[in-house]
Amino acid sequence: MSAVTSAAISAGASVDLWVDEWAKDANCSGQDPEALFVRGKAQHAAKAVCKTCPVLAQCLAEALDSRTEFGVWGGMTERERRALLRKRPDITSWKSALQAGMAAQGG
Ligand code: SF4
Repeated sequence: MSAVTSAAISAGASVDLWVDEWAKDANCSGQDPEALFVRGKAQHAAKAVCKTCPVLAQCLAEALDSRTEFGVWGGMTERERRALLRKRPDITSWKSALQAGMAAQGG
């Protein structure tokens, strides 16, 4: 398992088929959008909704590729995403990296 896939899976990503039109399948689609844009420690509670989200990897890839700064995306707080970006500056496309990792897992 790649380190990238490990990071996504440890964030809660399920190894499923990759879908580009992922927003409609988001666990958070029916909740108050502001719930994911809390600050500080409240983000750790807010990201609970991501744990079973079927499109966690896609959401995380988009946030990382677009350098989204605020809120919970893909099961990670903004601080966790910044740390991951610092740790893996070699990854130019998180979408490709996470897709490859999922494919290797049989997804
Ligand atoms: S991973 Fe979290 S923030 Fe992203 S779509 Fe799923 S529930 Fe929403």
